[in-house]
Amino acid sequence: MKPVFKPKDMIQNLTGFTCLKCGACCRQEGYVRLEKNEPDIIAAFLSMDVRHFIETCTILTRDRIGLSLKEKENGECIFLTDDGCRINAFKPKQCLEFPVKWKFKDFEHICAWAIQRSKKIKDRE
Ligand code: SF4
Ligand code: SF4
Repeated sequence: MKPVFKPKDMIQNLTGFTCLKCGACCRQEGYVRLEKNEPDIIAAFLSMDVRHFIETCTILTRDRIGLSLKEKENGECIFLTDDGCRINAFKPKQCLEFPVKWKFKDFEHICAWAIQRSKKIKDRE
């Protein structure tokens, strides 16, 4: 007997995930935490002094144990542009791991890949 999956269950299965670069996750408010070595890497990519990068592009997280990228007034990540992520080649690990290793609640309603996959599942039902 074939297992029965509901669309929501299927969306939790991220096999075959491919980012469609819609930028929706970059528009969500919330920390984009940086690993210890990431300020140096991103600053070098941007040809910025790391201290200047930390002062202008990051904030100290509320728990005071790390840095997060700043947000624009509308909550978007400061590195989101009309052409996508300005630091794409050196984006933080947190960004690389979304949504396979972590995801926020109801991500399936905003992520273009998840929406497309839900639609395909519904069309098959
Ligand atoms: S660093 Fe790039 S991928 Fe990460 S949230 Fe910002 S714009 Fe998006
Ligand atoms: S919301 Fe999903 S498809 Fe869109 S950029 Fe983020 S991971 Fe990629």
